[in-house]
Amino acid sequence: MQSYDAIVIGAGVIGSSVAYHLARLGAAKVLVLDRLQIGSGTSTQSSGILRTHYSVIENVELAKHSWSVFNDFAGYLGDEEASAGLVKCGYLICAPDGPKLEPLRAALAGQERMGVEVRLLDQAAARELLPIAQFDDAALIGYEPEAGFADAYLVATGFARAARRQGVKIMEGVNVERLLMENGRVVGVETNQGRFHSQTVISTQNIWAGDIERWTGVPTPVKAERHAVLALEGPEAYSFKMPVFKDLGSPGMLYCRSYGGNQMLVSEGTVGETLAQPDNEQGDISMDYVVEVGGQVAERFPSFGEAGLASSWTGVYDVTPDWNPVLGRLPDVPGLVVGYGFSGHGFKLSPGVGLVLAQEALGLPTEVSLAPYAHERFRSGQLLTGRYGLGAVS
Ligand SMILES: Cc1cc2nc3c(=O)[nH]c(=O)nc-3n(C[C@H](O)[C@H](O)[C@H](O)COP(=O)(O)OP(=O)(O)OC[C@H]3O[C@@H](n4cnc5c(N)ncnc54)[C@H](O)[C@@H]3O)c2cc1C
Repeated sequence: MQSYDAIVIGAGVIGSSVAYHLARLGAAKVLVLDRLQIGSGTSTQSSGILRTHYSVIENVELAKHSWSVFNDFAGYLGDEEASAGLVKCGYLICAPDGPKLEPLRAALAGQERMGVEVRLLDQAAARELLPIAQFDDAALIGYEPEAGFADAYLVATGFARAARRQGVKIMEGVNVERLLMENGRVVGVETNQGRFHSQTVISTQNIWAGDIERWTGVPTPVKAERHAVLALEGPEAYSFKMPVFKDLGSPGMLYCRSYGGNQMLVSEGTVGETLAQPDNEQGDISMDYVVEVGGQVAERFPSFGEAGLASSWTGVYDVTPDWNPVLGRLPDVPGLVVGYGFSGHGFKLSPGVGLVLAQEALGLPTEVSLAPYAHERFRSGQLLTGRYGLGAVS
C-alpha cells in the first residue's frame, strides 16, 4: 500500500486548490484522485462570476481573500504561464423598493466594514456602466469595481499544474470506492486501482459527497440541483467592459454577464430542479422556460426583447439547506476533512477554501474561522442562511 501525507478526493476547482495549498504549506507527499479528469465535474459548468458581495459576512472574508488570488493568479502560483481568464469588469447589483432592499443595504455595509470598495450609484451612473439596461425601478444600486468573471477550467488546471510542479501526484480515472478505517479513524482509501494510505483524507466531491454518508454513516446534507444557463444574442452587445449584473428585482433574481464578447450569459439565482441522483449530464431546457427567462431579461434590458437564443446548457449545484458549504473536519470521523455544498457559489471562494482546508488538514490555524461552516450547524440549527433567503447570492 502506498503512503501519503494527505489524499484529496476530487480535482475540481476546490480539490485542485486544496492540493496546491497543501504543497505550498509544506506537505511533501500529496495524492489527488479523480474518477474522471481535472475540472470535469461541475466546475466546467460554472458561470465564473467573481464578487465579494454576500449577505453572509464569513463569505465576504473568504471571497475577499480569493479575489486577491484571482487578481494575480500567475504571481500567486509562481507560474508565469498561468491565467484565470480574469475579466475585471466590476459587479452591479440593484433592488427595487420591497423585501430585497434592506438586505442589499446591509450587505453593502457589511462589505464596506470588511474593507471592500463599494459605491452607491444613482440610476444615471448605473446606466453609464451598463447602457443596455434600464434602472427606472431601482431604489438602491451597489457597484463593486474589483469583481468580474473568470474561467473555472483554467483555474482548476492552473492550480493542478502548480501543485504538480511542487510534487503533488494527480491520478485521473481513479474512483474512490470507500474509506479505509482502523480503530475508528481514517487510514486511507480503497479505489478501483488499489489502496492508498494516509492519516488525512480531504473529500471535495461536490454533488457526489453523498458517498461520505454511505462510507461513514454521517449524513451529507446535500442535494443535486440542476440549473439552466442561457446565452442570448441581442441587438446590442453586452461587451466585456460592462459589469456583471445582479437583478434582485426580477422574479428569478437573474444574474447576467458578457459572454463571448457580445452575447449575454443569463441564469436564475433561485431554486432549481432537484435530481434523484447526483449527475452532471446535460438536462433538457424547455422553450417555455427560455421564453419565461427571456421575458424577465427584456424587462431590464428592453432591446433584448428582440434577442435570440445563441446557446444553452445546464449545470448542477451541490445545495445544502442554508445554501452555504460544509468546511472542515467531521468530528465523528477522525482523519477526514470535507469541503462540499457550495450551492452554486464555490468558484469565487475556491482559492480561499483551498487554503483553509489545507491548513485544517495540516493542523495549522486557519486564515478564516471554519466554525460557522461546521457540519454541526445542521444538528444545532445555527444555520448560515443569508439575508436574501435561499439562492446562490447567499
Ligand atoms: C451552472 C453553474 C453556474 C455556476 N456559476 C458560478 C458562479 O458564477 N460563480 C461561482 O462562484 N460559482 C458558480 N458555480 C459554482 C461553482 O462552479 C462550484 O461551486 C465549483 O465549481 C465546485 O467545485 P468542486 O471542486 O467542489 O466540484 P467539482 O468540479 O464537481 O469536482 C468534484 C470532483 O470530484 C470527483 N469525484 C467525486 N466523487 C469521486 C470519487 N468517489 N472518486 C474519485 N473522484 C470523485 C468528480 O469526478 C469531480 O471531478 C456555478 C455552478 C454551476 C453548476
